[in-house]
Amino acid sequence: MTFNNNTDHPETHDLVIIGGGPGGLTAGMYAARDKQDVVLIEKLSPGGQVLTTDWVENYPGFSEGVSGFELTDSMRKQAERFGLKIINHEVQNVDFRGDMKHLLLASGSMKTRSVIVGTGAQPRKLGIDGEDLLTGKGVSYCGTCDGPFYREATIAVIGGGDTAVQEAMFLTRFAAKVYVIHRRDELRATKILQERAFANEKIEFVWDTVPVSIEGQKGVERLCTRNVKTGEESALSVEGVFVLVGTTPITDFLKGSVDLDEQGFVKVDRRQETSVPGVFAAGDVTSETPRQIATAVGEAVTAVLSAENYLENNEG
Ligand code: NAP
Repeated sequence: MTFNNNTDHPETHDLVIIGGGPGGLTAGMYAARDKQDVVLIEKLSPGGQVLTTDWVENYPGFSEGVSGFELTDSMRKQAERFGLKIINHEVQNVDFRGDMKHLLLASGSMKTRSVIVGTGAQPRKLGIDGEDLLTGKGVSYCGTCDGPFYREATIAVIGGGDTAVQEAMFLTRFAAKVYVIHRRDELRATKILQERAFANEKIEFVWDTVPVSIEGQKGVERLCTRNVKTGEESALSVEGVFVLVGTTPITDFLKGSVDLDEQGFVKVDRRQETSVPGVFAAGDVTSETPRQIATAVGEAVTAVLSAENYLENNEG
């Protein structure tokens, strides 16, 4: 990959934040309020994965909870009130070798003295037959987005974590029946979510079971499964399959530039600094984070204060 550092995109900044989820928006809000020369680059619209969360009830300050959209929209407005510039671009590659970091965008390149990566993560796929073919035709990775299409339907949710259990409960607002297919006999989700799901009459748990394939002609008709203890294979008649089995980090554009862990998450130290001085990361993209909105926000504050400290000590 070659970088044209001359005229194609003349912008040079002190700090560029990549990603507009809660972490990126918080870092942007702090930096803009501190009158830094900062810009935030976001591929789509600001908000990140939280936009696909129907209701957030564990973010402090909202005693009755808040919708994912309202929370992130409010974060964006707060950052923009302090003058944060948000631009819509995708960072395709980076060169962090010199004091000036180079970012390759579809429309040219950008230079910056420091970077905060807050690109987050995206839904993990199962990698089974029928999954790709039927994506958008009954296979979904977002209950909040697609739930209303499944009124009175029978559907399956794959996974046993917070996302799967929370989304399964949301889906019962529309569906007549929701199977939750989990590969063990115990959920990973937090106890309060488990209790609510166990009390929901529309949810039936299918334990010790993994999905094998998804079948259907024009849309999903069947989910084929295997019991991991008995080896018995079965088929459930369902109209939708929601795959909610965790996330993978959005770090392809960083490969070879900063140290990543085995799963591709960015390794950071306690100051949220990556293996490259002047490059920081926060939120779901980082290794060993609890992956909560509140922790993403806290990590972002640490990252931006560390970046400001770096800029002060490394005057260009
Ligand atoms: P997660 O906690 O990693 O859970 C993923 C689930 O999918 C696990 O139950 C896992 O099974 C299962 N799984 C993984 N790969 C699978 C495969 N190939 N086939 C079948 N099942 C598979 O992911 P998450 O639920 O998306 O949560 C991610 C993070 O966000 C967590 O830290 C969570 O606490 C947080 N979160 C919090 C909230 C909230 O606070 N309300 C809401 C959503 C998410 P095993 O259990 O056997 O590993």
